[in-house]
Amino acid sequence: MTLDSTQSEPVSAPAANPAAEGLRDRGSPRERWQVELAAAIRDPDELCRLLGLDATFAAEARRAAGGFPLLVPRPFLERMTHGDPHDPLLRQVLPLEAELASPPGWVADPLEEAAALAAPGLVKKYEGRALLLATGACAVHCRYCFRREFPYAEHGVSSAGTAAALRAIAADPSIREVILSGGDPLLLDDDRLAELLGRIVAIPAISRVRIHTRLPIVLPSRVTRRLVELLAGLPFPAVVVIHANHPAELGPEQAAAIRALAGARAILLNQAVLLAGVNDTLPVLLGLSERLLAIGVLPYYLHLPDRVVGTAHFDVPEAKAVELVDALRQKLSGYGVPRLVREVPGEASKVTIA
Ligand SMILES: *Cc1c(COP(=O)(O)O)cnc(C)c1O
Ligand code: SF4
Repeated sequence: MTLDSTQSEPVSAPAANPAAEGLRDRGSPRERWQVELAAAIRDPDELCRLLGLDATFAAEARRAAGGFPLLVPRPFLERMTHGDPHDPLLRQVLPLEAELASPPGWVADPLEEAAALAAPGLVKKYEGRALLLATGACAVHCRYCFRREFPYAEHGVSSAGTAAALRAIAADPSIREVILSGGDPLLLDDDRLAELLGRIVAIPAISRVRIHTRLPIVLPSRVTRRLVELLAGLPFPAVVVIHANHPAELGPEQAAAIRALAGARAILLNQAVLLAGVNDTLPVLLGLSERLLAIGVLPYYLHLPDRVVGTAHFDVPEAKAVELVDALRQKLSGYGVPRLVREVPGEASKVTIA
């Protein structure tokens, strides 16, 4: 990917994209990333065909997807190994029958976020910072997602909700940092993002803006020249927290998107989730840190998976997680070791385990 290839350019008649609410009918030419998003894979049979997998996986995916359908953008698919049903990237997005199990302890809202809403779409749990759910839409459906059950619409995640959230932020000067989250906030187009960021930085108490996004990984063309200019134009460096779980997610296109963000003097961090069968081995975690550092991203958090219903098969025992991170610490520079954390409702911050 080069920056030149990611500029806005008129594209003819893209397909409708039901997952990307708010991207339609804006009257502006669709950008390359929007066209790629519309072409994301939603059909399990197509996924299996493209990867050379047996159609039984597709049948299982159809049974298991429930209300959280398969969604895989092609740049992410391209990082998978053809013919490998155990591919660690595939495992993050392919619905399995195991999702239908509901062991006790795995619940719809394990973080009790619905109770922590300070305003529509505004989660205020920790001092000094508030998390704004800018959109409920994502470009990829990660099967382990702790917000997979979150009723965004019910909690006012919409343009009107965002306006109310901004008023609540302005009314509380203890909030110094706004974290744009979702869904994926970079699914807002550049005009809407510019407007939102403009409103946020106009609030006198705000001295930092953070963006939690998976798009530089799963849809690197989202890092347009305009986005880079927008971030570069903020009165302070943007903090961009990407989300990669496995080194194979970070190919040349992703590295170019990261380079472009670094060109906007953004502070670049990664958060990963520790997932059974994806990245719960020392070589993979070591490879992830090495690859992140090679492309200019500091490993920030390694989350123990939140216990949301349908995700029990991704769980990694805490003792094993601690062992893995201790082993990482022996092999890496201190700044290459992510903090192992778990979110515990009612605590004043995420809880560091190791
Ligand atoms: C994780 C999280 C934050 C950010 O926490 P940091 O430790 O500063 O990264 C803020 N608000 C909510 C609700 C969160 O879940
Ligand atoms: S990108 Fe983030 S919010 Fe979206 S499905 Fe994946 S983990 Fe959940």
